[in-house]
Order: sequence, then C-alpha cells, then structure tokens
Amino acid sequence: MNSVISTIKNQLWAKVMLGLFLGVVVGVFFGPDFALVERELALTISNWLALPGYLFLAIIKMVVIPLIFSSIICGIAAGDSVDTVKKLGVSVVFYFIFTTTVAVSIGLLFANLLQPGSYLGSELLGLSNQATATSVNQALLDSTNIPKRLASIIPSNPLSSMASGEMLQVVIFAAALGVALVVMPQNKAKPLVSVNLSLQDACMVIVNWVLKLAPYAVFGLIAQVMVQMGLDALSGMLYYMNTVILGLLAVLLFYLSLVVFVGKRSVLDFLKQIRNAQLIAFSTSSSSATMPVTLKVAEENVKVNPTVSRFVIPLGTTINMDGTALYQAIATVFLAQAFGIDLTATDLLLVLVTAIAASVGTPGTPGVGIVILATILSTVGVPIEGIAIIIGVDRLLDMCRTTINVTGDITAAVVLEKLIKK
Ligand code: ASP
Repeated sequence: MNSVISTIKNQLWAKVMLGLFLGVVVGVFFGPDFALVERELALTISNWLALPGYLFLAIIKMVVIPLIFSSIICGIAAGDSVDTVKKLGVSVVFYFIFTTTVAVSIGLLFANLLQPGSYLGSELLGLSNQATATSVNQALLDSTNIPKRLASIIPSNPLSSMASGEMLQVVIFAAALGVALVVMPQNKAKPLVSVNLSLQDACMVIVNWVLKLAPYAVFGLIAQVMVQMGLDALSGMLYYMNTVILGLLAVLLFYLSLVVFVGKRSVLDFLKQIRNAQLIAFSTSSSSATMPVTLKVAEENVKVNPTVSRFVIPLGTTINMDGTALYQAIATVFLAQAFGIDLTATDLLLVLVTAIAASVGTPGTPGVGIVILATILSTVGVPIEGIAIIIGVDRLLDMCRTTINVTGDITAAVVLEKLIKK
C-alpha cells in the first residue's frame, strides 16, 4: 500500500492514471446513466471540472507553434551534413507512407473479416435518416478537400500560417530555413541556430511547468467526456468499437515489433518510457497538444538523438496519423456494410489511397478524423449521413486512435535513428 502511495506521489504517469480513473467514476455518476443531479446542472459541473484541462490545453497550444518551429530548425541545422538531412528527409517520408499503408491495410482486413456492420441494430441505422445537413457541415467538408489541402502546404505567408496555427505550413517553412542554415557558411548560420536552441529550451521549461497540471486536467476532461456521452451511447456499437480497438492494438503490435527488431530495444522499457505521452494523448484526444510531451519523452526517456527527434516528432505529429487512417478504413467499411453497399476491390484501393492522403492532411486535433471521414465516404459512394451513427462513440475512439498516433511518432523516431546510423 505504501509503495502504491509513494508511486502516485512521485510518478507523473501514476498521478495521471489516478486522475483518469477518478474522472471516469465522477463522470459516470453525473452522466445520463446514474444522473445524480439534473442534466443541466451536471453539464455545468462538468464544464467547471474541465477548467484545469482547458488551461492545460491552452498553455500547451501557446508553445506548440514556437516549439515546432524551433525544434525543426534545430533538428535539421544540428545535423552534421547536408547528406544526413537528405537521408533523414527521404527516409522519413517513405517510412510514414509505409506505416500508414500497413495501418490502413490492417483496418481493411479487420473490417472485412469481422464484419462489424452486420451487427448494427436497425434502430441505429434509422438514426442516419434523421441526420440533417447539420451533422455533416458542408463548409467543413469543403475545407477538407484533400488534393487542395495537399497543394496548399507551401505557405505563401509564413507569419500568417503561424498566426493561424497551420502546423503543416509551419513545418515546411521551418524545414526550408533549417536546410538553408545547413547549406550556409557556419559562422553566418550560427546566430539563428543559437536563437532557436534557446527558444526551444524555453518552450520546454514551460511544458515542464504545465505538466504539473496534467493529472487535474485529465481528471476534468475525462469526467466531462463521460458526463456528455454516458454509457448508453456504447450499447449497439460495441462490436464496431471492438473492431477499431482490435485494429489499433494490431498497429501497436506492429510498432512494437519495429521497436524490437529495428530499434533493438526492449518492449517493456519502451512502453514504460512513453506512457506519459500516451496518457496525455488518450486524455486530450489531440496529438498536437501532446507534441511537446511527446518530444520530451522521446528525448529524455527514450533517449532518441535530438537531431532525429526534433525533426521527426513535430513532422510526425503533423503528417503521420496511423491510428486515424486505420479508423477511417474501418469506419468506411463498417458503414458500407451497414447500408448494404458492396465495396469493390477498386473501392478498397481508393479507401487506402484516400486514407493515406487524409492522414497527411488531418490536423492533430480532437474529432477531425470524423470530418475527414466524410470525404472518404463520399469518394466511395457511402452516404455521409452514416456519420450520425458513429458520432456518438467517436470521442472514445478518438482517444484511442490519438494514443496510437502519438506512439507511432515516437516509434518513427526510434526506427529512423537506427536507419540513419546505418
Ligand atoms: N484526434 C486525432 C489526433 O489528434 C485526430 C483524429 O483522428 O481525429 O491525433
């Protein structure tokens, strides 16, 4: 007992786990299932409980853009030569495409084998008929035009990209500056590199402060999710949820085998080292908000070479979302099955390609995966109103897929560090 108490006192992950557990308990009691108090009051209480969470997210968001900017510049500029940078740049792109392809393929395989759509109750299918345009906002759909998004990754005005938080554009700008600094004469490049090194360190100090708030943030955010959703939303959707969760676990196994066979590390050590980042990802449903913690964990616990982690983690956070890609594949096949639509091999290939492209274009914020899903659904002719069926359980699945997205980024850093050395 004493050792449990001292672990909770001294270890951040244990405090966060406790916050998570208490959040679920409190949330269930105030939620629609137990309904200890009136619904209105419960929602108000849950909003107040989420206050530390909102503060936590706001402070992290405050440093995320300067952190991404300075990390990428330092990551590239600290590399010893243009050759290393080239090697890292090319390997990273191939690696991300490879892992995302594996994740989507696992998703398609599981959805076709387990057939989650055939277990859907007819009352849930009826939901989609009631869905109106409000559930899938057309403006949102337009903004997720993937080819357009892909083409707009070059910022025409980097300062406005920073101001509006366009992560991918900031990454591209920082990468271009970083490469320029490597190519320039050392004495001219040094001042800007030093400024960015200080900026990065300062951001990490702020991250260390805000991490003290993490357990309370997690408690409030989870309690709020449970109050809003309730356990009732889960019934009827369990088979679908299990399919997604099984798929995500398969992707996790795939990562762990990469960590063991390519990264030459022990699975248990790796999982212990990354648990803080995973817990924060799970509780916030946002890989962008977790990015500073992911970077800290990769460097301080997993001990990845900063040249690799400072480049791979911010980039991965922005364009590598295997959990999201897998989820989109399963959700598409699930809805096709529910509506009795046969997806041909070409359709499945289309899902594969679109889900990979979407993983690049999806910002790492809560719930966007489901918006991008609308694009994929319409590509293969599945009614987008189907989203009404799955939206009720989306937050929970979002938490799980974000955890996998973040795990994928740290795995990428471990694997690429080894590949670059070779
Ligand atoms: N919430 C996810 C993330 O931040 C994206 C998504 O799948 O909605 O990684």
